[in-house]
Amino acid sequence: MSNRSDYSEGDLRNTGMSLRHDREWDYELDRIIETIEERDAKTVGLQFPEGLKRRGPAVADDLRALAPDDVTFMLSGQPCYGACDLDTYLMRRTDVFVHFGHSPMKDSDKIIYVPLFSNVDPFPIMEESLEELADPAEDPDVGLVTTAQHMNRFDEMVEWLEERDYEVHTRRGDDRLTHEGQVLGCNYASADIDAEQVLYVGGGKFHPLGLAMEHPDKNVVIADPVNNVVTVADTEQFMKQRYASVHKAMDAEKWGVIFCTKIGQGRWEQAQEIVENNDDAYLITMDEVTPDRLRNFAMDAFVNTGCPRITTDDGPQFHKPMLTPGEYEIAVGNEPLDALEFDTFHGTW
Ligand code: SF4
Repeated sequence: MSNRSDYSEGDLRNTGMSLRHDREWDYELDRIIETIEERDAKTVGLQFPEGLKRRGPAVADDLRALAPDDVTFMLSGQPCYGACDLDTYLMRRTDVFVHFGHSPMKDSDKIIYVPLFSNVDPFPIMEESLEELADPAEDPDVGLVTTAQHMNRFDEMVEWLEERDYEVHTRRGDDRLTHEGQVLGCNYASADIDAEQVLYVGGGKFHPLGLAMEHPDKNVVIADPVNNVVTVADTEQFMKQRYASVHKAMDAEKWGVIFCTKIGQGRWEQAQEIVENNDDAYLITMDEVTPDRLRNFAMDAFVNTGCPRITTDDGPQFHKPMLTPGEYEIAVGNEPLDALEFDTFHGTW
């Protein structure tokens, strides 16, 4: 999800996982050291999301000072945007692997997930968000969702809304999500709730825009305690872009079908099915899906079975139209145009 330029709403760097506000994150060093000692680990891999990579060496220094002398710490330099995106090379070569910034997509004895809870107070901005929510006397039902970073305050947020006479609907999504009320850029199953309005508390527009795309019937109010703003998710620009890409791809003859090799992004069967049913489709495997890597393939269009947000958020940067699997079915005429919907990702790695 790199190289964003003009349409930056979905940029993962705007989700609050960055150093911009000089916030301190809790790296849970004691828990890491305890596990290292318990397992008598000699090699430890550390993986940070993009916005926090700069802190990596300092965290390694802090751990070195606390750990036994014979423990070696190694930093992953691979891009990282989610728990779907573990550095499996480093993971296989280390006794303990610490993944910072995301909650588990799947539990594994080898991995310590350190979610890095935000210490930003969400309640002042929630207070402001009440102006965008319906008055509880008229519509008390509200859904509540957030990201892994704010999960530590989730129960308090529910109580806070209940104290203001809202009936709060929350749901634990599917296996890809760890917590009740948690959303991912590719999974909004926690918002399948019986309320017409959903309050998203978290940094940036990346998640709430996906949420509004996935649940077009709901009013998605964004209370962003990181940037201190309240907005209502507006998917118009997003939808226009998707329709434009589908239209452009309708004349395509040669299709590149991308299979992403990242551990939690593989949709092999879906990719296979497309290739089996289209003689002019070629399966292309890759980890990072970037415009540069696709430029040399002489394709008319691409369909991406990896991270859906690469397609929807970074799509305009690719030299040829890039579609989700569902959009591909529309472009080749198997489905009508109004079948267009947001691509979500289910299951674990
Ligand atoms: S596949 Fe999902 S969890 Fe992984 S980077 Fe994309 S949106 Fe995030």
